[in-house]
Amino acid sequence: MTRTADTLAGLSFNPVEPSQTAAARFLARGPLGLLIGGRWTAAADGDEFSTVDPATGRTLAMVPRAGVQDAEAAVAAARIALESDPWAGNTPEERSRLLWRIADLLEANLDELAALESLDQGKVLATAKFGEIPAAIAQFRYYAAAARALEGTTVPTSLRRQGPERQVFAYTVREPIGVVAAVVPWNSPLLMAAMKLAPALAAGCTVVLKPAENTPLTALRLGELLVEAGTPAGVVNILTGFGQEVGAALATHAGVDKITFTGSTAVGKQLVGDARSNLKRLTLELGGKSPAIIMGDADVTRAAAGVSRGIFDNGGQVCVASSRIYAQRGVYEQVLAAMAEKAESLSLGHGMDPRAELGPLVSRAQADRVQAYVSSGRAEGAEVLAGGVQGGAEGTFFQPTVVSGVAEDSPLMREEIFGPVAVVTPFDDPEQVIEWANDSRYGLAASVWTEGLSNAHRMAAQIKAGTVWINCHSYFSPELPKGGHKESGWGYENGALGLSNYLESKTVCAVI
Ligand code: NAD
Repeated sequence: MTRTADTLAGLSFNPVEPSQTAAARFLARGPLGLLIGGRWTAAADGDEFSTVDPATGRTLAMVPRAGVQDAEAAVAAARIALESDPWAGNTPEERSRLLWRIADLLEANLDELAALESLDQGKVLATAKFGEIPAAIAQFRYYAAAARALEGTTVPTSLRRQGPERQVFAYTVREPIGVVAAVVPWNSPLLMAAMKLAPALAAGCTVVLKPAENTPLTALRLGELLVEAGTPAGVVNILTGFGQEVGAALATHAGVDKITFTGSTAVGKQLVGDARSNLKRLTLELGGKSPAIIMGDADVTRAAAGVSRGIFDNGGQVCVASSRIYAQRGVYEQVLAAMAEKAESLSLGHGMDPRAELGPLVSRAQADRVQAYVSSGRAEGAEVLAGGVQGGAEGTFFQPTVVSGVAEDSPLMREEIFGPVAVVTPFDDPEQVIEWANDSRYGLAASVWTEGLSNAHRMAAQIKAGTVWINCHSYFSPELPKGGHKESGWGYENGALGLSNYLESKTVCAVI
């Protein structure tokens, strides 16, 4: 039975008051500050903004609204820290130990961080507690090891000896790029911050971190833990505020050597222009519209469950969400029915409510956006088999939704919705489905579901995407490089490639 707007309106979302928890103590502690040069401070002009619980609209905390002056101060602090001891003279072991201490402190405060993430972003507590915060911790541990494995090369050259006594000796060294502006989105706030901070610090860079305006809380708590871990003043600076304000100030600042950005393709393109003045290095992790292809020989139950998780987890606010599902004709009806059943069975509720399997979307604006896509799809003749309804006290909830009968050129099929909306389409010919899968400006990720080994690897080779999963979706690990092809990004995160993002290579050539 399809739930209606009325049933959603009936959900009063009684948040479990975290009055006794560390998260509540953090929120009650008084004015939160910007972290600049090792000190907590208000915004230069005293501006603040509220961050709210998206399920209830309740203000959780007031946070400083950083502006141009704060960006100036933070970049200056990061430059001084980069060029002076203790950071400039640190050893790989010292950086490694620091990263490990940060990981330990995150772990010791996992419950608090998970609760803050759930309250601020809306995600269910379990997603934060068992998924994202542990994944953030894993980033720091992985790059704690990588910090001690940086190597250059010695390079035999074809240059002639410079006389009988002389020869040419050349080598390369890897050096930190310098001051990094790390700008992150709101869907998985602490994890996205960790994916930038851990490799940047392992490489010896200094950082100005700007969390998304919707979700500043875990970045600020992380800042406290960074200080507690002994991060030297100015090595990490944290500016809460808006993209068009402090974000743009960082992106255009001549003192910033690199921008590492995760967010929308539209803002990523804007940053390409902003970086031009001093040719900042850029890593861009952008949007996606990831296809999942279920072949006729797949384990259909497993595939339907896997792609349902891929699109419904975190309310579909996942860059690699399996938003386009192509099922071979023989299993199409079965996939559709299983996904619709799953969508109907998921219980919506406040992220802190242990019964909730899905929380609200991050904001009313995001839920309105998702609703607009579904409504225009309906108007074009698409069939909504499950969900499709927005609701809740603040209008921030959106039912997990399964849609079929969507044309290949519909916005529902082509654009990133960033909500729990699965578009399911049948196909007959495997060559045709590869064409459809690749017919997108995005190339972030894809999955193929089949019991046929050759099929799986042939299709993995044909799909244009930064990651192709076989019989799984949204599987991540710090060892696995992650990046976008086409308009889904530039560069990679995770693994050795992720560390390279924060390093320059220098060639030294000597006659000895
Ligand atoms: P967004 O692009 O609107 O904002 C991302 C960040 O950029 C925020 O901190 C924002 O304040 C800041 N920002 C906005 N305008 C800016 C500007 N002009 N200069 C500097 N900074 C600016 O994205 P969002 O809505 O927060 O996040 C959703 C998007 O993120 C989706 O497109 C999603 O696919 C993408 N995403 C990608 C990945 C990935 O790894 N590829 C991971 C998660 C999310």
